[in-house]
Amino acid sequence: MTTGALPSNGLPAAEILAQLRARQAGDVDFRAGRVYGYTYLPEADVESLARDAFALYMTENALDPTSFPSIVALENDVVGIMAELLRGDEQVCGSFTSGGTESILLAVKTARDRARAERPLVTAPEMVLPRTAHGAFHKAAAYLGIRPVVAPIDPATFRALPGEMELAIGPNTILLVASAPSYAQGVVDPVPEIAAVAQRHRLPLHIDACVGGIALALMRRGGREAVPDFDFAVPGVTSISADLHKYGYSPKGASVVLYRSRELRRHQIFATMASASYALLNPVVQSSRSGGPVAAAWAVLHALGEAGYRGMLDRVMRSTRTLIAGVGEIAPLRVLGAPDMSMFAIASDQLNVFELADELLARGWYLQPQFSCPGSPPNLHVSVSHGNVGQETAFLEALRGAVDQVLTTDGMRLDVLREQLAHTLAGLSDEAALEQIYRLGGINAGALPERMALINSVLECLPRRLGEGLLVDYANTLYG
Ligand SMILES: *Cc1c(COP(=O)(O)O)cnc(C)c1O
Repeated sequence: MTTGALPSNGLPAAEILAQLRARQAGDVDFRAGRVYGYTYLPEADVESLARDAFALYMTENALDPTSFPSIVALENDVVGIMAELLRGDEQVCGSFTSGGTESILLAVKTARDRARAERPLVTAPEMVLPRTAHGAFHKAAAYLGIRPVVAPIDPATFRALPGEMELAIGPNTILLVASAPSYAQGVVDPVPEIAAVAQRHRLPLHIDACVGGIALALMRRGGREAVPDFDFAVPGVTSISADLHKYGYSPKGASVVLYRSRELRRHQIFATMASASYALLNPVVQSSRSGGPVAAAWAVLHALGEAGYRGMLDRVMRSTRTLIAGVGEIAPLRVLGAPDMSMFAIASDQLNVFELADELLARGWYLQPQFSCPGSPPNLHVSVSHGNVGQETAFLEALRGAVDQVLTTDGMRLDVLREQLAHTLAGLSDEAALEQIYRLGGINAGALPERMALINSVLECLPRRLGEGLLVDYANTLYG
């Protein structure tokens, strides 16, 4: 293996590729269909086409639309396809971005800059979002100097409550947010009711359809599932984010942000001629930007077509229903709410779900831990995608085995741990508290723990501010 230093002479291509493949061996094996998240794997021929299309445009630079007009055309095609799926009229426009986070950052920045232009008295802008809105909105708020005002959700359905959102609106509110669906529990917020609130208060409303945009639109068109309205057909929806790199099955680096009108999108675009360098004209966050992701997304959309997506979606939905029914039969577990798509969350009143996640991992299955928040217990997230289809029986069997194992071990009780931590950390400064946690838990900042249950349980039980401090320390030591 090479070390971290630049080799004095280049290595042969075969050796380099062999090294990269060897490194991959330490990652989760998502190709076996046992990882319920992170990756969205289409059939091999589609993946291979995406790879070729990506390579074709890898070196091209989307920075300059006049030098690479073909990338503009590809972006416009992809944006147009997404706008049509989400029932936009000819006024709807949008941008191709690197992912959900960039789409959300841009939608929030656009709302902020429009408010700056049209409501100059608002100097401390706020946005109202349900507890289930994605963390990317909190990141956008932190990056852009906006105060997030979090509205409670319905603890039975995990949907946003339009009345609570309306109560959270104040003179400084510049944007409302809803999800279709929320990532955590996979439920669609009551968008028409929230849009009515937005219209009543003359506020823009962003719909985060990052994970669900494509699948929900196709489900509605297929007519086999009841899909709540969430798109531009709802008056009052002013922008939508929708990822290609999730259930669009494109390689990562592909999303769109769509706007009701160009008048609104204008506030997204940045231009400066203040520098001695070239005039900068950036519709999105990135400046120099590979044409690879858009070429690959364009290729996958055209390779699958509506029929191709619909076939995958049917199989994924069948698999999801089988899994949800199976989980419902395992007594200590329950599925949170009534998921609208192919994502759901597993909670338990009898066992520590973080220990369950470790037991599953020991059996070769990965589910994503999610921490509690007001209105939602700690849980394990399942995103079912095409690469997972066919694993239902094996997964449910592993899940039953893992549940039995956790129930027969004297596990870590979250209520006990929460009390212990509160007692130990009482009166300590944040810095001292974190030091104490590292000592007590035998947690080494930077090292990936063997069993995640301990660290996840600690994160679950800490005040959020300390939990976030712990996570920041972890990343700060993990990365060189
Ligand atoms: C994945 C996701 C995001 C963030 O998207 P990235 O592509 O990971 O940046 C935002 N919102 C929802 C609902 C998501 O599922």
